[in-house]
Amino acid sequence: MVRIKRGLLVGRMQPVHLGHMQVIKTILQEVDELIIGIGSAQLSHSIKDPFTAGERVMMLTKSLSENNIVASRYYVLPIQDVACNSVWVSHLEMLTPPFSKVYSGNPLVQRLFVEAGYEVKIPPLFNRKNYSGTEVRRRMLADEDWQSLLPRTVVEVIHEISGVARIKHLNRKEVSEV
Ligand code: NAD
Repeated sequence: MVRIKRGLLVGRMQPVHLGHMQVIKTILQEVDELIIGIGSAQLSHSIKDPFTAGERVMMLTKSLSENNIVASRYYVLPIQDVACNSVWVSHLEMLTPPFSKVYSGNPLVQRLFVEAGYEVKIPPLFNRKNYSGTEVRRRMLADEDWQSLLPRTVVEVIHEISGVARIKHLNRKEVSEV
């Protein structure tokens, strides 16, 4: 029987940035297939989580194609949060193909999978100061260069959905009636 090495990476990807793409390429050198879970899929339209799960699926699939990663190497699945951390791993197992190795820099994600008996690997961080969703969103609000932190196709998706206008609108102070 052929044993396929399948890994899992879960991230909010708000938005997908060059750090995510680097880590995906690194992991794909170790596994045959990678499940990429788009975490907190139920969240959108807030400063911290501006983009919908569908928009994040577009960002990921287009940037994977931009990087010549063939579709037979990955699965992109939106994953909603659950109220109880202790059942999150089973929730994920119900929604994804089977996997044997988990990649995450997030201590909570690491802990939950270690306790469930999975092999967990902490992947290297690339330019974390700049390649971070927090930094990208900060630059969008400050009219600074956010584009250079993202794959070209993600910049195109953000233009298509007027993503910067959305985050700026959400950041407005409420105007009181006169
Ligand atoms: P994220 O998008 O910040 O990061 C995802 C992963 O990408 C990281 O673990 C890291 O390995 C990699 N990464 C990020 N920046 C990088 C860089 N510059 N270089 C290299 N790699 C980089 O997402 P996150 O916050 O870790 O996402 C975890 C998700 O899991 C969230 O959606 C969270 O809600 C969900 N979660 C849910 C529950 C629950 O529902 N109870 C419990 C635990 C986690």
